[in-house]
Amino acid sequence: MGNSTIHILRRTTQLLFILLIILAPVFDIFRFDSDTRSLIFFGSEWDLGLKEGFYMNQSFGNASHVAWQFFLKAILPWLGILAVFPLLGYITGRFFCGWFCPEGTLFELFDFFTVKIFGQRSLFGKKPNDPPGPSKNRLSYIIISLLSIIAISLFGGVALTGYFVNPGTIWSQIVSWEFTFGVKAGIIGVALYMCISTIIVRHTLCKYVCSAGLMQMLFGWVSPFSLRIKTDSERLSACTDCKNCEQVCFMNVKPRLLGKDINCVNCGECIQACDKELGNGGGLFSFSQSKLCALPPKKADNKVIDFSFR
Ligand code: SF4
Ligand code: SF4
Repeated sequence: MGNSTIHILRRTTQLLFILLIILAPVFDIFRFDSDTRSLIFFGSEWDLGLKEGFYMNQSFGNASHVAWQFFLKAILPWLGILAVFPLLGYITGRFFCGWFCPEGTLFELFDFFTVKIFGQRSLFGKKPNDPPGPSKNRLSYIIISLLSIIAISLFGGVALTGYFVNPGTIWSQIVSWEFTFGVKAGIIGVALYMCISTIIVRHTLCKYVCSAGLMQMLFGWVSPFSLRIKTDSERLSACTDCKNCEQVCFMNVKPRLLGKDINCVNCGECIQACDKELGNGGGLFSFSQSKLCALPPKKADNKVIDFSFR
């Protein structure tokens, strides 16, 4: 695998997923239509498949049919939706967070800007694992980041409001600059949420608030074979203590000490960073679904390596 393959693959999946989120309501793949008050799913109205006035027929046959349709068209899909993140967590840990989540992608982008402007990832203080910064072109980064947050938040507001109001209606209101209260509230509400979460909260939201993330974290934690980062405990003495693996970790995990850290989103950036330092393929980390990768870091002679003093 090339030195930047993981990074490029991850950016590709993140961008494709953002594209899917933007286009799903536009192409009627999935949205709620506020005019007809119905759910649109792959171009068709999602209904219970019950005939008009079904409640008038009180026969056993009709009651069974109604119960079956409810189970098939309401309960089962809902259970399916609820099961997605626990199932993902059980098998892939927090892989979705690191490779697909649009919010996580946005947070990473603004981590990048904050490092370039302030020399640290968080606005609230420097951490030992912050990447080097700030940049000499701070002013350019300030201007680009301000323009980006305004444009991305407003566009995000328009795109996500499209899940509740027909996107065609939204765009015609934008063109005529005449908004209904619902559209205006939707765009401004989402834009404000995106601004605040991106500028202030960022990965703290991933760690403590996001229910999808927490479900993956919990089920990944209890799973004996969920995807995680494996540390090659036999080769830890090869570590040069360059700290690159910690600097690339936007979740503030110390992968060298990784037993099983619930905040790891399996982004693989530490794998790549260590491969770069120790030579392609020579890094200490890899993806694994083996139970054994939760072992504490040890040398071949079984002495625990303590990195804390370095
Ligand atoms: S420990 Fe590695 S894989 Fe996990 S979040 Fe940090 S950089 Fe990504
Ligand atoms: S990137 Fe590899 S060599 Fe560098 S500190 Fe991390 S584990 Fe050690």
